[in-house]
Amino acid sequence: MSLEETTKMKTVLKIQSEIRRVLADELRKREFIELSPVILSPITDPLNHPTSPATINCYGKNYSVTQSMIFHKQLALRTLDKFFVFSPNVRLEPEERKNTGRHLFEFTQLDLEVKDAKREDAMRLCEELLVSVIKSIHKNCTTELKQLGRKLTIPKQPFKQITYKEAYQKYGEDFEMILSKMCKEPIWLIDIPITAREFYDREDPANPGYLRDMDLIYPEGYGEALSGGEREYQYERIKQRILRKGQNLEQFKDYLELAKNDFPPSAGFGIGIERLTRYICGLQRVEEASLFPKIPGKVCI
Ligand code: AMP
Ligand code: MG
Repeated sequence: MSLEETTKMKTVLKIQSEIRRVLADELRKREFIELSPVILSPITDPLNHPTSPATINCYGKNYSVTQSMIFHKQLALRTLDKFFVFSPNVRLEPEERKNTGRHLFEFTQLDLEVKDAKREDAMRLCEELLVSVIKSIHKNCTTELKQLGRKLTIPKQPFKQITYKEAYQKYGEDFEMILSKMCKEPIWLIDIPITAREFYDREDPANPGYLRDMDLIYPEGYGEALSGGEREYQYERIKQRILRKGQNLEQFKDYLELAKNDFPPSAGFGIGIERLTRYICGLQRVEEASLFPKIPGKVCI
């Protein structure tokens, strides 16, 4: 790294450290408990993305490196009412994604879940966290923002919303990036169709075929910030949803065994720390938000 690159990296890492501090402090203030991340498990998020999990053989059984902690979050709700975890995820993204500026194959999510919460509770919490982060960065990292030449405005709450259907009708298939480039403040995408997401996202009883979930989209072309929502928590519904997705029950047998007594109802989300850092710092590419970025298809230390 050149001296200039090292100086910029140091500035970005200082801001990232402040982002993590504020997120954790704000959640602790609201009585969330911090959990250690799960790195390896026989069960992990199957994801409705063209990614695959990294697997290793442990004592004769295949374990996956965590793609997201969704299943463990549902299990943890039997012990805790609200919790968060800085969860490292490994997702073997397709190599073409090395050019998006948004994809790493190892990244960290702030993943959280709240028992008995609704989607709207998770959305309000997220808005509060994001506004707190931006306010603290303004206050505690003034010099760093100046060094990066970043002008960051404090978004107005509540953030605007658009349904998936409306976004698709107005802007076509590439609506996420079009919306992101158009917007000056973050915007919620809600009511995502059942076919576009995973089996554990709760179907809206009042709007069949659509989910009680949401994405947050950053402004200025930074793209998706997070995904979250309410979860399918009842065993019979979970089974139905796996089958409706054309997946087989055998693939999820370890998870289904644990789901037999139903999980507590909940809502939550996972927000990527590198993407958040990229947005806060105004970086061109997500890899600039990590000291050891894992770029799809490349050999990375
Ligand atoms: P997902 O549940 O797939 O929406 O992932 C949750 C969040 O993690 C996303 O909204 C992003 O902020 C972040 N994320 C997902 N995949 C990646 C990736 N390949 N590289 C960096 N961040 C990611
Ligand atoms: Mg997503």
